[in-house]
Amino acid sequence: MDYKDLANTIFPDAKDISYYEEKYPERNLKEGAIVTRIAPSPTGFVHIGGLYQGLIAKKLAKQTDGVFFIRIEDTDQKRKIENGTLEIINSMENFGLDPDEGMINETESKGNYGPYKQSLRKEIYQSYAKYLIEQGKAYPCFCSQEEIEEIRKKQEDAKIRPGYYGVWAKCRNITVQEAIEKIKNGEKYIIRFKSPGREDRKIKHHDLIKGNVDFPENDQDIVIIKADGLPTYHFAHAVDDHLMRTTHVIRGDEWLSSVPLHLQLFKELGFKAPKYAHIAPIMKNDNGNKRKLSKRKDPEAAVSYYVEMGIPKDAVNEYLLNIANSNFENWRRANKEKSIDEFDLQINKLSVSGALFDIVKLLDVGKTVISSFTAEKVYEEAKKWADVYDKELSQMLEDKEYALKVFGIERGNKKPRKDIAKWSDVKENIIYMYDDKFYKMIEDAKNKNEKIYDYQVINEKQEIEKILKLYIEKYFDENDDKQMWFEKIKNLAEEMGYAREVKLYKENPEKYKAHVGDVSTVLRLALTARTNTPDMYEIMEILGKDRIQKRFEIAIENLK
Ligand code: GLU
Repeated sequence: MDYKDLANTIFPDAKDISYYEEKYPERNLKEGAIVTRIAPSPTGFVHIGGLYQGLIAKKLAKQTDGVFFIRIEDTDQKRKIENGTLEIINSMENFGLDPDEGMINETESKGNYGPYKQSLRKEIYQSYAKYLIEQGKAYPCFCSQEEIEEIRKKQEDAKIRPGYYGVWAKCRNITVQEAIEKIKNGEKYIIRFKSPGREDRKIKHHDLIKGNVDFPENDQDIVIIKADGLPTYHFAHAVDDHLMRTTHVIRGDEWLSSVPLHLQLFKELGFKAPKYAHIAPIMKNDNGNKRKLSKRKDPEAAVSYYVEMGIPKDAVNEYLLNIANSNFENWRRANKEKSIDEFDLQINKLSVSGALFDIVKLLDVGKTVISSFTAEKVYEEAKKWADVYDKELSQMLEDKEYALKVFGIERGNKKPRKDIAKWSDVKENIIYMYDDKFYKMIEDAKNKNEKIYDYQVINEKQEIEKILKLYIEKYFDENDDKQMWFEKIKNLAEEMGYAREVKLYKENPEKYKAHVGDVSTVLRLALTARTNTPDMYEIMEILGKDRIQKRFEIAIENLK
């Protein structure tokens, strides 16, 4: 009896690997094109770090006219949750990271190198495990949990490196005959890889991000097929990335220390190893301490957070590229209008130790990104978000024509408004343009005895009343252009004893009560109950005389 008999006893029906080698041939891509992937587990939580990896992997593939695919790694049946695959697909799509190949729902996929979900690839792993067993490079292990525990304890007591290797690998030397007998007797087993490595020898690895690293060879007889018949991550990685013809494995650096094992598996399976790029985790500055973004502590660690807050995908992608390659910022400054697709991402410029992620900066990018949108786009995106997350806003936006006017304020010019960082800011930013909301806000504040109009320099009741009345009676004219409009506010200021220019006031402060800016503030407050708004001329233009007058009357009433 030989290894072949053992292999046939264990996997009698497994196909010869030549079947798969032919079914999944080398990809026919142009010179230099690379194949990348992300391989998330459907645990129900998509981490921003996963999106970061996805963005990098997709971008690198696209830059070379290569292929980017998504493989769902669901071999850990304990961790997987219902609809976890869909959640990943949707998350990636939400951020524009739809793959060339991968699952399109829980069970179906697109692409010729599938299935793209590991639990659907059981037969494939078995074929390759059988192939290894046939050559004596893998073997069944009958050790129970207790026996493994015992080995570990002995090693611990003797202060020896833990693991299933060398002399400690009990089942390594079981004869084929004995193994077959045990299997026929119904004994439980798993399949282990028989490592040819030696711990006292070193291997050199060149990582595309980490650079040159030395490791001791792997000598652990790791499990390749578990008791449930599914592969471990290590074995599936080798088989899948070979058959899917991945050229560049871009993944989290928690896997860097597994490289010696993975290179060994590729070699023993007769595969060409891919290039590796190990990405350091995204870090956060926590009161001066740099630490990983934590699923538990940081809401911004979850991709769903960005969707719920309505942070546009362009802002997220833009910011992630920013922390991936520090030269992105300069590129963006020089290429304000270009799509991020045109930025040339360099994998070797990624941080070795972990890029710092700052949600405040991301929101700042959000402001710039949204400021470049047309009113129509702001409307569409805000409405889409509001339909799901804010019914009140969604209702406010029902009147599209009016909303477009509101969003159009200070937009499309050289210095567009930058007050919206995310769609959840929108309501707060436009609410005063909606009469019923505005009046309700004033009513509510009044009932709570809160200060509504925070008058500043000019705060005498009579004076405010006079300014408002005089303005609407004498100076406001709907037909004025912006220049004339402002001229008239200056005239109003002058008539009432205020400097018509700030400069004049500064030269001779004793001559005036205050200046035109202070008069404007009174108008702005009466109109919006805010000291800070985008262009007041445009606001007045949209409100029109009647609504302005009504707002002034209410402001005057509230002076009493
Ligand atoms: N399923 C692995 C993980 O979630 C994927 C690692 C890889 O990209 O190979 O970390």
